Amino acid sequence: MEQIDDLRQLLDIPKDIVILSHRNPDGDAIGSSLGLYWFLKQLGHTVKVIFPSEYPGFVAWMPDAERIIICDLDKEYAFDSIEEAGLIFTLDFNALDRIDPMEQVVLNSKAPKVMIDHHMYPEGYADFVMSRTDVSSTCELIYEFISQLGMTRLINQKIADCLYTGLITDTGSFKYNIFPSTMNVAGHLLAVGANNDFIQEEIFNSMREKELRILGHCLYNRMEVHEDISTGIIWLTKADFEEFDIQRGETEGIVNQILKMKKVKIAAFIKEQPTIIKLSLRSKGDFSVQEIATKYFKGGGHLNASGGHFYGTVDACKERFIRSVRNQLKRG
Ligand code: 5GP
Ligand code: MN
Repeated sequence: MEQIDDLRQLLDIPKDIVILSHRNPDGDAIGSSLGLYWFLKQLGHTVKVIFPSEYPGFVAWMPDAERIIICDLDKEYAFDSIEEAGLIFTLDFNALDRIDPMEQVVLNSKAPKVMIDHHMYPEGYADFVMSRTDVSSTCELIYEFISQLGMTRLINQKIADCLYTGLITDTGSFKYNIFPSTMNVAGHLLAVGANNDFIQEEIFNSMREKELRILGHCLYNRMEVHEDISTGIIWLTKADFEEFDIQRGETEGIVNQILKMKKVKIAAFIKEQPTIIKLSLRSKGDFSVQEIATKYFKGGGHLNASGGHFYGTVDACKERFIRSVRNQLKRG
């Protein structure tokens, strides 16, 4: 970060600090937020973590997860906290529309804003920016940030557990999106006590029976493969959500299953919600689902993992997706 010395000075004086992350927070969002939270508390600050919506059950074990403010559940407290903050961190996103109604409150705040993020095309709202795409995760960048402050000695087991979680969730447990720096950071976190076995169990082997059965339904009844364009699609309708009583977060990771087929290079998971259709897109190699998400589905993300949304029927959404893949393949 270019202005790290200015930020270090700001952090010298105890402040009310707010840490924000994105809607539908994932392991990296909550890991980076709570990792930074425990770090800043050691420096004597009063710190609050705020998410637009609830976090999934597989990260509920994280230290102080229960203290996170959820804007959907307590808007007034979330807004007041941002208004009172003397410093605002925004983690694991780079476009303010990803924090929903809090966007305006952040824009109105005169507090300095810090962006730490690993997505492409950052917006310009922050005074201090650490935006890099050559890292695995925001958690890796939090480590880098603490390192640039010269304070890695403050990384204790709690912080290590939080940051390690983001490393493994954003890399599918070190399967993709890894860099030499990722493994160096992972090594240091393990050295200070990150509990790999426990975290792996909590994240990857904590499914409920119902969730595994939903996955079965998706794979058996809701998957189509278009071999000519190396594309697989899974969709769930509103009726599916009702029949299986599917809650937010219970379809996490389904899109990645599609890529387990060798013949598939591009995958979409299409979820019909009450008023909107949400898409999760994944790819292997250099096919950019980020371009598809941006151009055709008002979204964005990374080269190999992106998301967006669509208004209309599931069939229309599927058609639009297939057409967009064909177009992009044609253009090479
Ligand atoms: P997921 O499929 O796991 O929900 O999202 C994968 C990635 O796509 C996220 O890490 C995020 O970077 C990006 N993403 C998902 N939804 C959106 C969206 O609506 N807008 C933007 N800009 N990015 C999104
Ligand atoms: Mn991330």
